[in-house]
Amino acid sequence: TDDAARAAIALEDRRLAHNYHPLPVVVERAEGAWVTDVAGRRYLDCLAAYSAVNFGHGHPALIAAARDQLEKVTLTSRAFHNDRLGQFADALARLAGVDMVLPMNTGAEAVETAIKIARAWGSRVKGVPEGQAEIIVMSDNFHGRTITIVSFSDDEQSRAGFGPFTPGFRMVPYGDAAAVEAAITPSTVAVLLEPIQGEAGIIVPPPEFLPAVRRITAENDVLMIADEIQSGLGRTGATFQCDNVGVIPDLYILGKALGGGIVPVSAVIGRGDVIGVIRPGEHGSTFGGNPLAAAVGHAVVTLLETGEMQERSRVLGEHLHARLQAFVGHGVLAVRGIGLWAGIDIDPALGTGRQVCEALALRGVLAKDTHGSTIRLAPPLVVERDDLDFGLDQLEAVLEEM
Ligand code: PLP
Repeated sequence: TDDAARAAIALEDRRLAHNYHPLPVVVERAEGAWVTDVAGRRYLDCLAAYSAVNFGHGHPALIAAARDQLEKVTLTSRAFHNDRLGQFADALARLAGVDMVLPMNTGAEAVETAIKIARAWGSRVKGVPEGQAEIIVMSDNFHGRTITIVSFSDDEQSRAGFGPFTPGFRMVPYGDAAAVEAAITPSTVAVLLEPIQGEAGIIVPPPEFLPAVRRITAENDVLMIADEIQSGLGRTGATFQCDNVGVIPDLYILGKALGGGIVPVSAVIGRGDVIGVIRPGEHGSTFGGNPLAAAVGHAVVTLLETGEMQERSRVLGEHLHARLQAFVGHGVLAVRGIGLWAGIDIDPALGTGRQVCEALALRGVLAKDTHGSTIRLAPPLVVERDDLDFGLDQLEAVLEEM
């Protein structure tokens, strides 16, 4: 009932830190691309937990893998081996065509891990003096919320009040390969970027940008690190967005969908001669690589091995973007994205992104605004075409009535 929803929201409001401003929907259960609230109302999930639920809520193969592992062993710590971790890492390495895997839990932890690996590689292999390593990052980036990560954000809301910050980062305009090249010094160890910037509003760089960064980094003995936490694992119609532009980075950072929406699983994967610089005792995590995470992560890799999810994303994504293009000029200023991933700039004359999302929720569609007037759509890749059309019909109706 609505009383149950009000009570749940009031309790959260009283007891939880106010670091989020959720839409007033209280979810009780979910299946596939649909969630149900405490009053029994159904909503099409067009956010998919920021792409952590790429394979839909309660995917039978992922639930089965988790359930099966729950009965056996869930946590050993890395003080011992477990019979799941090696198999998961092997499957993931084969899927991605890489040598080595360093498992963590959340996205931010994996980003921190990649930064540590890059710095250690810089001092031990490249010969950059200790404490002088520089990492080139992009304007409008989003890589997480830790102190070091917000240290190289240009979003004031992410930084204000949280200093002092971690040094060692240099920012260049996203999409500008010449600026990347110009920022390289003998102390540069890595270029860290999102192949598509998700939180910034699904910003797709010019097609030549990633190939140019790959060439520039290779020529300068600098690592290319692709944060595919949001863009990877099927979202863009390929296993990685880097695949879509023919680029192989030195390191990929993965998270979100790697845990199937069941457990937090992240990883840095890539070149063995780079990740291999980390020695016993230098880095780790109590939960990183636990058997439950490995079992679910392995099941995720198995889903991706057939290419079916990537294909769904590509084919349904073409439909999504074809329909969205027709909205431009009718309350929408611009649409960006690829696969089942879209950033939609709402005409501010109509209202804010938040207002559009609130109106969508009343019509049974969950989406999330970002940066004021942009809304993003990222439904689970298992969404049916008819359901996607339902979601787009609701958006069309909301834009008309605003
Ligand atoms: N990197 C990218 C590209 C992301 O989109 C996110 C989350 O939105 C993160 C890192 C941080 O992941 P987490 O929230 O799991 O720490």
